[in-house]
Amino acid sequence: MAPTTPCSLINFKTENKQRLLDEFHSDLMDRRLRLLIYAVSAYCWETFHKPILITEILRSPDEQREIYKNDPAYQQQPWLSVHEYWRAADLRTLAFTSGEIINLVGWLNDMIEYDKGNHPTLLYHEVSEHGLHLHLQVDQSNVLTMKYHSADPV
Ligand SMILES: [Zn+2]
Repeated sequence: MAPTTPCSLINFKTENKQRLLDEFHSDLMDRRLRLLIYAVSAYCWETFHKPILITEILRSPDEQREIYKNDPAYQQQPWLSVHEYWRAADLRTLAFTSGEIINLVGWLNDMIEYDKGNHPTLLYHEVSEHGLHLHLQVDQSNVLTMKYHSADPV
């Protein structure tokens, strides 16, 4: 009998597959980010029966400049991306309904705090007309902070 093809819950953009695989398994990638990617992929599989697809992890300074080259605000005052520090991953959302995206974003952001609550951990956004996508990030605190929940002991 032919072996069955294993179903991968974490997929990588075909055009950059080897690079993304290398980045995902690199010791340089923030371990909290890897943990959250595993959590998100398990949640998406259990809740929506869909795998996730990673489109970007590490971004070089040149790639950052290329993305924002036509952004007037960036031209005036360039900024660095959390992707340049191995602390962010982008996920393609084409396979997900808007309800599923809202569900996922709410689930994660209700649990994990980013930068003392000043920014979300998971964003659904578009940057410089590069297409709507999910952006998963961890802050520079080196800890993963769970939000207080009313069911938690005081
Ligand atoms: Zn991103």
